[in-house]
Amino acid sequence: MRPPPDQSTFQPEIQWFPRPILGIESSCDETAAAVLNRDGAVLSNVVSSQVTVHEKFGGVVPELAARAHLGTIDLVVNEALTTAQVSKRTLGAVAVTQGPGLAGALLVGVNYAKALSYGLGIPIIGVNHLRGHIASAWLADPTFPLSCIVLVVSGGHTHLYHHDADGRCMLLGRTRDDAAGEAFDKGAQMLGLEYPGGPAVDRVARSGDPRAISFPRFHRSKDSLEFSFSGLKTALLYKLREMDSQLQSRQIADLAAGYQEAIVQVLVAKAFAALKQSNLSALAVVGGVSANSRLRTVLSERAAREGISLSLPPLAYCTDNAAMIASAGRQLLMRGEQPNSDLDIRPTERFMTTVEENGPQSVSKKIKEKANS
Ligand code: ADP
Ligand code: MG
Repeated sequence: MRPPPDQSTFQPEIQWFPRPILGIESSCDETAAAVLNRDGAVLSNVVSSQVTVHEKFGGVVPELAARAHLGTIDLVVNEALTTAQVSKRTLGAVAVTQGPGLAGALLVGVNYAKALSYGLGIPIIGVNHLRGHIASAWLADPTFPLSCIVLVVSGGHTHLYHHDADGRCMLLGRTRDDAAGEAFDKGAQMLGLEYPGGPAVDRVARSGDPRAISFPRFHRSKDSLEFSFSGLKTALLYKLREMDSQLQSRQIADLAAGYQEAIVQVLVAKAFAALKQSNLSALAVVGGVSANSRLRTVLSERAAREGISLSLPPLAYCTDNAAMIASAGRQLLMRGEQPNSDLDIRPTERFMTTVEENGPQSVSKKIKEKANS
């Protein structure tokens, strides 16, 4: 066991050794903690969901989220350590989500992690939540190719990235309005399904016919990697207005299946267009929406047909979790990123640059520019 730190000379910034790492995630409505061993394998992954706190409001209430994090974070961290059979004193570092997310919710995780880092004399590293989702692509399969396209599809993001062999990410395209998860959640609400909407639409759609009712699929132009889901939402609203409540309930499975199919087909088409434009043959799809069963089927079938390596994280790593945060933090430390005991929350932080005018030429040009820099 290591002695407690001498606080007069405490410099957590420079004391990273490859030992177990604790990850903490509190950016939205899940309080999560996880421990990875020194080689990056997941020893524990504990998630406490706040669904019961927010379901009666049909969405996340920021103030309630922060209070719920405060009430559970210590329990969740202790459970993660106990399950991993790792004592606090053997930890080598703590990684925590810095942003983007709800300010009050992020504050709970960041302050808890800072106190732990200070008390134990171990480095702390801040992790961007999207970088965490991206890292989840390698959690179950560390041999998955590093040079790949990553599609992040969650409640707040629909982002397509080019991920290079050094772990650098370049944003190729993103949604212009709603995120894919948001489209699922809002669609579910219109259909009268429970919160959170994604899993509910997924479940109801299984007994529906995706071709029975057609929904629009947004494609800005043939080669565009931009997404938009607001028109789809409006289309559902108009279809529902045309039906009386009896017809609505009779057709709910077909409505859910058609709506889901429109989201899935657009996501798959753009992910594969990005592969083609970037000349890559590996695709990772991560974030809460990657748990969608229809999306997983369509992706797997097309990847098999076209000889594309596909990483679809196990369901526990799709929605928000801390194993992905610990993994991203560990990668940053191994790449020489300096820990920062003074870190602060970054509620609106973005992740990486955009190719504003994307098309096959600009994407490959940008990738070449990046490789030469
Ligand atoms: P965040 O946006 O906070 O990072 P997550 O990565 O946990 O959140 O993703 C949550 C989103 O994933 C929600 O919008 C939820 O509806 C969606 N989701 C979860 N499971 C499914 C599913 N099976 N099908 C479609 N969407 C899903
Ligand atoms: Mg997330």
